[in-house]
Amino acid sequence: MRRTTVAQDLVIRGTGIHRGGQIELHLHPGDAGIVFIQGGTRIAAVPDNVVDTRLNTTLGADGARIATVEHLMSAFYGLGVTDCEVAVTGDEMPAMDGSALEFVTRIRDAGLKELGGEVPEIVIREAVRVEQGDAWVEVVPGEFSVAYEIDFTEEAIGSQRFSFTGREYAAQIAPARTFGLLRDVEMMRSLGLALGGGLHNAVVVDGSEVLNPEGLRFADEFVRHKILDILGDLWTLGAPLKGQVRAHKANHRLHIELARKICELPGVRG
Ligand SMILES: [Zn+2]
Repeated sequence: MRRTTVAQDLVIRGTGIHRGGQIELHLHPGDAGIVFIQGGTRIAAVPDNVVDTRLNTTLGADGARIATVEHLMSAFYGLGVTDCEVAVTGDEMPAMDGSALEFVTRIRDAGLKELGGEVPEIVIREAVRVEQGDAWVEVVPGEFSVAYEIDFTEEAIGSQRFSFTGREYAAQIAPARTFGLLRDVEMMRSLGLALGGGLHNAVVVDGSEVLNPEGLRFADEFVRHKILDILGDLWTLGAPLKGQVRAHKANHRLHIELARKICELPGVRG
């Protein structure tokens, strides 16, 4: 694919989900891959710079940390943005509405421009798989697709499966919001986390109930959001994948472990 960056500077403002502060993102055209900047520190968005995957995907280097980069990374995947500088005024990304929709529309409206040169796709020639308990994610040879399965005891979520073949990201995947269980939200608040989180930027589930008054955007919004997440996590590879991705009850840790293993394949740079 053609190397592509943003056509002009763009500022996006929002609230961080964990600390609740106002955050500004300044996107600038770049030509050195996707690079996050905090203070004077540049952090390339590559698997080796992922320093935490427990609640989100956090990039870090030289003492700087930026949490929850996966939704902007997913928007970059969806738009085909391979190169961009992203300066962040805090240590986490703005949550927006919990999805990648506003990132996609704002960046698309500001315009994209092609850089000279191509990013060669990463062709998967043998299966690569990572596991954790009964959760797993793998990529096998074939045309690009992502098939994701989740299975929750909460009846409002239950078992869901969705396959994404690379078409209509903006309509099918970008609007799917992050979600949480009410008991986890209460636990995180007690730890001083999720202070900026609420029904305006997450779907919150309690057993068989979705607590958001507006309901869901898709009946299977939960699994579509997992696909949004894995597309963002795998975009740390910096190149499109030619392979079929399959995931079962996976999480950021497994997504990033898969990306690291793909980096180790012969011919793929790290
Ligand atoms: Zn997410």
